[in-house]
Amino acid sequence: MTYQCECLFTTSDRGDFTDHVLEAFNPKDDIGADGQVHHELADRTRECACGFTANHWDELDGHLLAASATPNGVGQDGLKHTTALPAMTP
Ligand SMILES: [Zn+2]
Ligand SMILES: [Zn+2]
Repeated sequence: MTYQCECLFTTSDRGDFTDHVLEAFNPKDDIGADGQVHHELADRTRECACGFTANHWDELDGHLLAASATPNGVGQDGLKHTTALPAMTP
């Protein structure tokens, strides 16, 4: 399985891909597009600073990406990136 971002970043590791898109959109101050602060509170709790609690890591990653991704897909580095995580493969 190969994952490719719109910026042409390519990896076969889903975790690497997730890290890449989260990093691409991560605001310096952790304030998302909705004006709320979003970041993981601590390891292994799957809680976000906004009060959201995810049932699994993929859900938390999706939440963080949805909160920080820009409508036009342009990240902090000025490049266009994919704004959704790939579907989980069984
Ligand atoms: Zn949040
Ligand atoms: Zn990218």
